[in-house]
Amino acid sequence: MLPYFREHFGNPSSNSHAYGWEAEAAVRQAREILAEAIAATPEEIVFTSGATEANNLAIKGVAEAYFQKGRHIITLATEHNAVIDPSEYLRSLGFEVTFLPVQIDGLIDLEKLEQAFRPDTILVSVMAANNEIGVLQPLAEIGKMCRDRQVLFHTDAAQAIGKIPLDVQAMQIDLMSLTAHKVHGPKGIGALYVRRRNPRVQLAPQLHGGGQERGMRSGTLYTPQIVGFGQAVAIALAERETEAKRQIQLRDRLWQKLSQLDGVYLNGHPSQRLPGNLNISVEGVDGTALHLGLQPVVAVSSGAACSSAKTAPSHVLLALGRLEKLAYASIRFGIGRFNTTEEIDRVAEHVVATISSLRRQKQLSAIGDR
Ligand SMILES: *Cc1c(COP(=O)(O)O)cnc(C)c1O
Repeated sequence: MLPYFREHFGNPSSNSHAYGWEAEAAVRQAREILAEAIAATPEEIVFTSGATEANNLAIKGVAEAYFQKGRHIITLATEHNAVIDPSEYLRSLGFEVTFLPVQIDGLIDLEKLEQAFRPDTILVSVMAANNEIGVLQPLAEIGKMCRDRQVLFHTDAAQAIGKIPLDVQAMQIDLMSLTAHKVHGPKGIGALYVRRRNPRVQLAPQLHGGGQERGMRSGTLYTPQIVGFGQAVAIALAERETEAKRQIQLRDRLWQKLSQLDGVYLNGHPSQRLPGNLNISVEGVDGTALHLGLQPVVAVSSGAACSSAKTAPSHVLLALGRLEKLAYASIRFGIGRFNTTEEIDRVAEHVVATISSLRRQKQLSAIGDR
């Protein structure tokens, strides 16, 4: 990325001089890497500031372009807020949104999806991988159901890119949101894949201006971030299979150690999930006390980073049928490519000790109350 902050500072849209050409070549290369990663073409990649913007562009852009065909949208109760909130916003404008419930393992119920389709359905938005519980949705099955009914299919693949195979042709995906910072890339850069053929997706731009990105997303491109995005995805893809195997081993090792405690439950499907994701609920401890007890040693999270300042329990865990108290007393572990077996063992030891100690304190104070 560094040379594109310094020597090669040109604007990739300036096609009349060498400064622009250099930047354009770098953007082009990143576009090709991303396109190849999902079996798309470079022209189908629209750079955005991240997956939030990509989701907004996909959902509002389709709604605005197709409202004369229909005003019904289907999505999932466990989506990221960057899908739920634009959908709620469209509802306030007169669209109708079906939020499908999920099964207790977090997977979509395809029969419920089948029943939710209406003649005026224009879009189905179902995430590839959940950001809290890591559950992987059956994209190819959903894609086929949508294509059979000529309904557009959008997927938020922010968590999935570089971690699981993605193929917009085989999976019949029409729009796909991506972001760099979930695969060790820079923050503030993402992309939306927009299908150009069979069918050609129409999209109403949400930013109007200079007409960059085929008019779908105006604004000068951020070359260094785009270069970093491309490289991050290239590295993740090159190491994907070996890294997935390694992370599954680490995750299973962590779960094996934590599940030796009573009253510890796994959230989400045991195997149909991201390699590096483990999410548990813990009985008999207070959620806040649990997180405070872990924080000095482990960088763990109870939900999405964007909403960890909020005190509401996770809407994803509630959708799985977890009681509110258990949803609070939950931990999401994210294992990445820099984590080691030694770290997993240290984390497991500390988590087990913290839970045991909190439970002991609770027992003692219960005796004191008597
Ligand atoms: C992180 C994330 C987003 C938001 O991505 P940004 O690039 O931070 O805007 C959207 N959806 C999912 C599933 C995510 O994990």
